Amino acid sequence: MIEAIVLDWAGTAVDYGSRAPIIAFKNAFAHFNIDLSEATIRQDVGLDKLTHVRKILQNSEISSSWETTHPTIPLAKAAEEIYAQFQIEINKVLAETAQLKPGMTDLIKFANAHHIQLATTTGYTQAMLDQILPLAAKQGYKPAYNITSEQTNHVGRPSSAMVELAIRKMNISDPSHVIKVGDTVNDILEGKNAGTISIGVVDGGNLIGLSQQEFNELDIEQRDRCQAKAAVILKEAGADETINNIADLIPLIEAINDQQHEMPLLLTPGPLTTSHTVKETMLVDHGTWDDDYKELTQWVRHELVAVGKASEDDYTAVLMQGSGSFGVEAAIGTAVPKQHATLLIAANGAYGERMIEIADYLSIPHVDLQVPEDQTVTLTAVEESLAKHPEVTHFAVVHCETTTGILNPIETIIPALAEKGIITIVDAMSSFGGVPIDLERLRADYLITSSNKCVQGVPGFSIVLAKKKTLQGTEGNARSLALDLYAQYRTFEDHDGKWRFTSPTHVVYAFAEALRELEQEGGVTARTHRYHTNETLLRKGMQELGYELVINEDVQSPIITSFKYPTADFNFRAFYEYLKDRGFIIYPGKVSKCDSFRIGNIGEVSADDINHLLNLIKTYTKEELQLPVGN
Ligand SMILES: *Cc1c(COP(=O)(O)O)cnc(C)c1O
Repeated sequence: MIEAIVLDWAGTAVDYGSRAPIIAFKNAFAHFNIDLSEATIRQDVGLDKLTHVRKILQNSEISSSWETTHPTIPLAKAAEEIYAQFQIEINKVLAETAQLKPGMTDLIKFANAHHIQLATTTGYTQAMLDQILPLAAKQGYKPAYNITSEQTNHVGRPSSAMVELAIRKMNISDPSHVIKVGDTVNDILEGKNAGTISIGVVDGGNLIGLSQQEFNELDIEQRDRCQAKAAVILKEAGADETINNIADLIPLIEAINDQQHEMPLLLTPGPLTTSHTVKETMLVDHGTWDDDYKELTQWVRHELVAVGKASEDDYTAVLMQGSGSFGVEAAIGTAVPKQHATLLIAANGAYGERMIEIADYLSIPHVDLQVPEDQTVTLTAVEESLAKHPEVTHFAVVHCETTTGILNPIETIIPALAEKGIITIVDAMSSFGGVPIDLERLRADYLITSSNKCVQGVPGFSIVLAKKKTLQGTEGNARSLALDLYAQYRTFEDHDGKWRFTSPTHVVYAFAEALRELEQEGGVTARTHRYHTNETLLRKGMQELGYELVINEDVQSPIITSFKYPTADFNFRAFYEYLKDRGFIIYPGKVSKCDSFRIGNIGEVSADDINHLLNLIKTYTKEELQLPVGN
């Protein structure tokens, strides 16, 4: 998304043909009896003016002409004197200098409507600019930041310093979201050096150099020739694109934003935003009986055990077609024997409730430990239930309850239950890969996740990491053919990675790539760090905008964050659509006790993305909701 446009002044936004500095230069030199051609002046337009004077004086013809006419003033001093005269001359043509070029008013309107910030950099001095600004403002042009090289230690174009300062002031972290537009080679270089999209403007620019009247008097062919010549020069300097009228930026920005529209960023608990390379693996079709595919499946299973910090002596990964719930249902339905078994389910959110529903469907005797959604399940509460229900043989809990984003302390609960000989089932759907999990220490019997959560693959299968010894004793337990975890395991083991029934081949290839990318990122530690950074930024940023959290910060996971509606009549649908139009998909809330919405921090999402989202929410809160948002 384009967040800002940095514009040059003369020849780009104002002063058609960039005439004013040329006239002023010509007159300044004429004041010292030196006749300068326009072509000589135009060569280096865009530099700061003192540098420009010095550059002109380097021309041997001009320097010798100076030496004959002013033998007493050394060349070094000459630059300063001519420059002083230039300032006098430019003031004489000030009104002309500040005249907005055609198309500017449309561009300003468009930028305002789309919350695109405007800033400027220039070769003018601060004093000059200070005179132009009020004249431009009268015509409706009020860029938020106006940078001269006096603000960058006199480092001007083609260096990136001025644009970089503008970008910093606008609080934009990714320069590729910024367009730099100008009419000279130095402008283009400045934009390229700063890493922005660099656009050259042709009509009324320095390279054509004609006044509007002169240009209009040309016939069509002459005009075309002028425009083409200028465009080639700007392109050769590295312009990403050239435009004739400055208002042609509008369709250009729309096209850039549309491209990104097709790829909204999912700030959701999964499916989430995957990398381009993960998506790309799915462009090839694969057969399921293929040896390569079976090997890949085995590699994926092997890697998953490693991500869970477990030894393959103790743990195995069983893949199961379908979404995450299929894995939970397969684990519960296979783990709990048909006789003499009772499942204790701790529930503090929708996914805990779903396990209760699964137990009901499968007619599994169960005891429910209901915990409020904004509180964690504690070992004490679990032990109290166990004391009341000595018949309990199995225990199930959710790790990160995606309902709120709360993180249940499984590291204290699960080992304690393992010690008591209770079989444990952990729904780690939304945490595995995004929060460190050490299965050997945890001693969970079953831990479930899916392809489309923190490993950052696409939806299509679930994963059950199972303690081998436990799983091997579950033959015949399953209440479902398709969801028989034991049978699924046996088929993988006995047929070298062959899936039972048709498998989601594309999804498996994508998932293998996602596992490789997890490794490349630096494993779970690095990924957790990135998610944490996203979450902290989001939480603090939202709080600054006045949004309240649903759960306490100390039980907050780095996965997803819940926020209360800012007002009683808050229209979530409108908020959602506003963000969707700008490339972000968020999630409705799921807690029952208050109206809330959720924003995920996981997937191919960076701090830049979160900052961008916060900017949008700030604007929305201020302008649509009319709520105070701090500064
Ligand atoms: C995503 C998720 C699930 C699975 O949901 P599906 O829609 O079946 O993929 C289960 N538990 C938790 C905690 C989840 O976040």
